[in-house]
Amino acid sequence: MAITVLIPTALRQFSGGNAEIEVTGITAGEALKSLAAQHGELKKHLFNEQNQLRSFINVYVGDEDIRAQEGLDTPLKDGETVMIVPSIAGGSAVGESPAQKKNDLPELTTDEYARYSRHLILPEVGLEGQRKLKNARVLMIGTGGLGAPLGMYLAAAGVGTIGIVDFDTVDASNLQRQIIHGTKDIGRPKIASAKDRLLDINPKITIDSYETQLTSRNALELVKEYDVVVDGTDNFPTRYLVNDAAVLLKKPNVYGSIFRFEGQASVFWPDHGGPCYRCLYPEPPPPGLVPSCAEGGVLGVLPGIVGAIQANETIKIILGGGDLLVGRLLLFDAWKMKFRELKLRKNPACPLCGEHATIKELVDYEEFCGLKPPAGSTTTVDEITEITATELKSRIDAGEYLQIIDVREPHEFEIGRIPGTKLIPLGQVVARKDEIDPTRTTVVHCKLGGRSAKAIAQLKEAGFAGTLINLTGGITAWSNDVDPSVPKY
Ligand SMILES: [Zn+2]
Repeated sequence: MAITVLIPTALRQFSGGNAEIEVTGITAGEALKSLAAQHGELKKHLFNEQNQLRSFINVYVGDEDIRAQEGLDTPLKDGETVMIVPSIAGGSAVGESPAQKKNDLPELTTDEYARYSRHLILPEVGLEGQRKLKNARVLMIGTGGLGAPLGMYLAAAGVGTIGIVDFDTVDASNLQRQIIHGTKDIGRPKIASAKDRLLDINPKITIDSYETQLTSRNALELVKEYDVVVDGTDNFPTRYLVNDAAVLLKKPNVYGSIFRFEGQASVFWPDHGGPCYRCLYPEPPPPGLVPSCAEGGVLGVLPGIVGAIQANETIKIILGGGDLLVGRLLLFDAWKMKFRELKLRKNPACPLCGEHATIKELVDYEEFCGLKPPAGSTTTVDEITEITATELKSRIDAGEYLQIIDVREPHEFEIGRIPGTKLIPLGQVVARKDEIDPTRTTVVHCKLGGRSAKAIAQLKEAGFAGTLINLTGGITAWSNDVDPSVPKY
C-alpha cells in the first residue's frame, strides 16, 4: 500500500531534504519502519533505544494524533498520509502545493531582484521563495487595524496578488491605528485608500479590490480564488463566516483579533492537521457580552503587532517553511508585555472540521451569533422609543423639562458631554435608578446608542416606571448634527 509520510522542516535534513516520502505499510508503525529503512538518520530521531516513538514526536494519521487512535497499530488506508509533527514545535510543517512546483513559478524581473535582495540572500526564502511569493494570492478580509500592517508587509514582501475586502470609509477615529490610511483619505472608501497605499509600496503587485461586505452568498466564490485567507475582521459573524468558508475550501485561515491591550493569533488549517476557529470557540459569546473596539477601545499599536504576526505567518505558509501557528494560540498582552502560547487541539466533535461534521455549507451568521431572531420567531423585546439629536435639541430649546442621563464611563464623559446631563455609567444604572426622577421624561444616551438601549431595557426590567427615550446615534449624532464643538472619539 502506498502511503505518504510528510516530514516536518526540522527533520528534513535527515530525509535528504524531502518534504514527502512514499512508504509502504498497513499500520502507522509499519509505515514509520519503512521510512526509517529508507532514511537511517531519521530513525534515531523518531524512535528511542527501546524502539518506542519518542515522546516529542507526534504522528498524525489523517487528522488525528495516533495516540488518540490505536498508537503504532493505527491502521492505514491505501493512499493515506502520515504526518510527523514534533510536539516541541506544536505546528505542522507545510508541504509544497502542486501549484508551487518550481517550473510553474513566475520569473523575477531585473528590478525585482534589486527590490527583494534582502529576501533573496536568505536561504529560507531565496529565489525560489521569492518566486513563490510572486505567484501567491492572498485574500485579506478588512483593511482596518489588522489589515493595515498586514497588507503593507505582504505588498512589500512581493505577494503577487492581494485581494482586499472592505465596505467602510475612512474616518478620523481610524487613523490612530489603521496606518494604511492617511489624513488625506478621510471620507474615502477604505478599499480605494488601501489600494493606493499598497501600490505605492509596491507597484509590481496586483490588488483585487472588493468594495462589499463578505456574506454567506459571496464568501465561497471569493475565498476559492486565493491560496490563503487572512482574517482581519472585528465582529463575530464575519469571523465564523471566514472560518467556515476557509475550512470548506481547505484553505489556511490566518487569524488575529484584538481588544484593548490583548491580542490573539493563530493559523486555523484543519487540512494540515490543525483545529479550526470553531474547535477553539464552538459558539460565539452572546451579543453584547464582549464590547467592540469602538466601545471598549484599543491601543493603537496592538493591531500593528498582531497584524504583523499574521503577515509573518502568511509569508511562511507561502514559502512552505518555518513553524506555523497551526495548533497553537498565541496570546499577547501589550500592557504587561507578555506573550503566552496555548496548544490547540482539534475537537473531534467539531461540527465543521470534526469526523462527523454536520456543517457542509455556509449558514446565516447574524442569526448564529444571536444578532437577529431565528426566521419565523416573533420578537418579544419591548419597543424602545427613540429620539434624534436635532429633535432633542429643539425640545430642549422649546423649554421642555427633560432629564438627560449619560450612561457612558467617566473617562468618556470627560471627553465631551451634552449640557445638563447626569452621568450614571451603564454598570450602575439599575442600582442608582432612584436618582432618576420618574415624573420627568428621561432621554438616555451613550456614545452610539447601543449601551443606552441596554440601560433602558434594564431599567424597565427593574421596574422603573417613568418614560425613557433613547438618543439615536448617541453623543456622536449630537456632535454631527447639533454641536460640532463636542469632540467625537
Ligand atoms: Zn473545527
